[in-house]
Amino acid sequence: MNFEDTKNLQSKILEIYSRVAEESKSLQGQWNLSCLDSCGECCFNPNITAREFEFYPLMFHLLDVNELEDFYQKFWGENSKKSKNIQGGVCVLLETKSSLSLENSQSLNSYRPGRCSAYEFRPLVCRAFGVMIRKKNDFYESSICRLIKKQYALHSEKFEEYLSSHHVNKEEVLQCVEDFAYQLNALHPEFLNQKELPINLAMKSAAEKILFLSSFHGYDKN
Ligand code: SF4
Ligand code: SF4
Repeated sequence: MNFEDTKNLQSKILEIYSRVAEESKSLQGQWNLSCLDSCGECCFNPNITAREFEFYPLMFHLLDVNELEDFYQKFWGENSKKSKNIQGGVCVLLETKSSLSLENSQSLNSYRPGRCSAYEFRPLVCRAFGVMIRKKNDFYESSICRLIKKQYALHSEKFEEYLSSHHVNKEEVLQCVEDFAYQLNALHPEFLNQKELPINLAMKSAAEKILFLSSFHGYDKN
């Protein structure tokens, strides 16, 4: 992929991303399965994976605002104090809010508050954390965050019941994660071949790719 090809795909990636987010939001509204206040628990999962291209929009944004090099150096530069920790583990984009107490945990035992520092550019996987539909063989199934499921057990059951009555080939086509992943893969042949990586490695790899491509291009953000 060259610089122009990659840059030109950004609006298409973001368009698919916003459809994923809208679909998840709409399911949460329709089935009364909203997220818990100030919750950021899903982002603390140290095993989240993504593919390199999923972070290209964030990297192009950072390039636009002239912060990509600093971003890279902060986490992966030779002098980064954090560099031992960012290959795997919790996503580096997670901002924890110590001012928010765990009293927010309502009837649940614990969840940690936090927010994504690059929410607008978060990858596909993160847009499906709350509620989404998945396709398995010829059937749909729900993907509901465990905290939401616990908090809204009855609503979750109703949603699952609804999905269990839908065969994939039925006339009513439901939007599911696999469809969105397929749409992303179809944007460029290279995307299909990219492997899932721990989220911080996918981010690092994306930063390196865009820095490399931009260095040959004489990048002009206009
Ligand atoms: S990219 Fe943002 S939403 Fe996704 S895991 Fe990291 S902090 Fe959370
Ligand atoms: S998806 Fe679950 S863990 Fe993530 S913010 Fe919503 S309620 Fe919290």
